[in-house]
Amino acid sequence: MNVTRLFASAALALLLATPAAAAGQKPAVFDRAHFDTTCSPCRDFDQFASGGWKRTAVIPAANPTWGSFAQLAENNQLALSAILESAARDRSAKPGSPTAMIGAYYSACMDSAAAERAGFTPVQPLLSGIADMKSNADLAAQAAWLHSHGVRGVLFNFGAGPDIKNSARNIANTGQGGISLPDRDYYLKTDSLSVALLRAYEGHVARVLALAGTPEAEARSAAARVVAIETALSRASMNNVQRRDPNATYHFLPLDSLAAFAPGFGWSAYLSGRGRAGLDSVNVGQPDFFRGLDRLIAATPLADWQAYLRFKVLEDAAPTLTQAFADEDFAFSSRMSGARAQQPRWKRCLRATDGDLGDLLGQAYVARHFTPQARERALVMVRNLESALADRLVTLDWMSDATKAAARVKLDAFSNKIGFPDKWRKYDGVKVSRDSWFANRLSARKAETARNFAKIGQPVDRGEWNMTPPTVNAFYSPTFNSINFPAGILQPPFYDADWDDAANYGAIGAVIGHEMTHGFDDRGRQFDANGNLRDWWTAQDAANYKARADQVEAQFNAYTVLDSLHVNGKLTLGENIADLGGIALAYAAFQKAQGGRPAGRIDGFTPEQRFFLAYAQVWRSLMRDEALRTRVLTDPHSPAHWRVNGPLSNLDEFARAFGCKEGDEMVRKQELRARIW
Ligand SMILES: [Zn+2]
Repeated sequence: MNVTRLFASAALALLLATPAAAAGQKPAVFDRAHFDTTCSPCRDFDQFASGGWKRTAVIPAANPTWGSFAQLAENNQLALSAILESAARDRSAKPGSPTAMIGAYYSACMDSAAAERAGFTPVQPLLSGIADMKSNADLAAQAAWLHSHGVRGVLFNFGAGPDIKNSARNIANTGQGGISLPDRDYYLKTDSLSVALLRAYEGHVARVLALAGTPEAEARSAAARVVAIETALSRASMNNVQRRDPNATYHFLPLDSLAAFAPGFGWSAYLSGRGRAGLDSVNVGQPDFFRGLDRLIAATPLADWQAYLRFKVLEDAAPTLTQAFADEDFAFSSRMSGARAQQPRWKRCLRATDGDLGDLLGQAYVARHFTPQARERALVMVRNLESALADRLVTLDWMSDATKAAARVKLDAFSNKIGFPDKWRKYDGVKVSRDSWFANRLSARKAETARNFAKIGQPVDRGEWNMTPPTVNAFYSPTFNSINFPAGILQPPFYDADWDDAANYGAIGAVIGHEMTHGFDDRGRQFDANGNLRDWWTAQDAANYKARADQVEAQFNAYTVLDSLHVNGKLTLGENIADLGGIALAYAAFQKAQGGRPAGRIDGFTPEQRFFLAYAQVWRSLMRDEALRTRVLTDPHSPAHWRVNGPLSNLDEFARAFGCKEGDEMVRKQELRARIW
């Protein structure tokens, strides 16, 4: 499923430190010490709103970043930890019950002594299958076995998902993959930093192989060949901007065509291995990738493939194995995150439980920390934002009535999902014991892979979420035409029932507007009310839209993040459009909620000023340089500083609220401004 999130890079969004607010104490919306009143709001609003905080805040050692999101996620982790600790202590829970399952999973994961005793023996059965391969013809059966067991990063991706041109049914989708670095560009860029990182990766591959018993010299030479395979796969892959075009990744074809792209791969062996021998059609995301894979299979000796698969199994399993594996894993990944220390084990285990048994943990979280009233109040705000967009559609001056009518149909068809799914996922077939984290994870992933694969050819279940309830995030799904707000984000500093409208609309209101706007960003607008990829725009309206989107792209291309590193305006376009639309819609909804009533100042700020301060507060954050670099290269979201100053510099509403004048940094020249929604 395609989702467009508020905040990506889960792997980087790890959290920490500072104690949760004392129970029962409602903190004020703003802390004046967080402002930097020596900086004019019209010069740099992010600095004005959060400069005081940035001066004193410290990124916890285990974190790549720290700020509002991370702090809230940290609080949620403390709540989840209490649930898991108590479930782990509960030896009398009914076997198979949610408490018994999450308790056993967490407790096995926390048992570091058991992991040390086991060494790398848990992965031995996976490795021996690879050792038994006789020729490259065995690659297909091996890949099928590893894919069925949820081992990640092997050769390519193959799973079920909605057909983007017929969103009511699930089809098989396959596409590029097979690499372990975050993006194909990491293998292909020739600047000195990228070259050094790739060399460090090769060292990491060698050390992981050596940890599992390969003699050192042999491990070093094998690592070079593993990197050569991943580099060749990268060369055949689309870049992250090309992949944003849904038409470019849609090739729904008879299975024979896939076999024709890569005749050297045993597709029928692969599909029998996955229990789908009769599959007759598949969407091939990147045909060129499979052509490249085919050439690579022909040119690469069996021993190299074995080294590659061996590394994939070990890399995937590393977190669950001994401390030596976890340390090596951290040593390399910290080059991209900047983290100075490993996350404590309880956080890694909490995250793993959320990943493998998310709906069981989520049920317990929601029962304790999310009330029906909170759900209802959030829904009211969502409806107010939707009505603001409906109003805005009427007055848009660049869109024809025909396209407006179609846009309205799409808006009215939005499905609003708040807090948690209506139907919790079952974990039938998942075997969990207190004995082995690796075995629990393998069982959970195997069941999840089977659950996904069983969807091929079945109707789409539109009630499904793909984010767990405690997550501090939100997303729009173009194929479901749904906006989703997990319970985890519906708390301060995003939302509080006791806050004034200005603060709530500036914070969670802008988040809601952001997700709604994704339905109409440069990618989302290509999908119709039913979630199908179908053009519903007149040619003139599409051209008008594109001219506006081009302005947004140019604005963000101009931002320099670190030395010569710029924001990628094309990669981040959808998110930047969503930020710009989100804040404008939230402002309109806020004005409507005020109903023209004069509202007085609070803490010296007008309601309009508080609206924008609440927005900036949400994006308050510090990020390590390594993480910032990774983000700019791989994440469709711009860094936080520009998520504040970028959109606001386009808005008259902002300039008016703070009395900013033409010529001020936060006031973009009229002819350079962007405004879509
Ligand atoms: Zn987004």
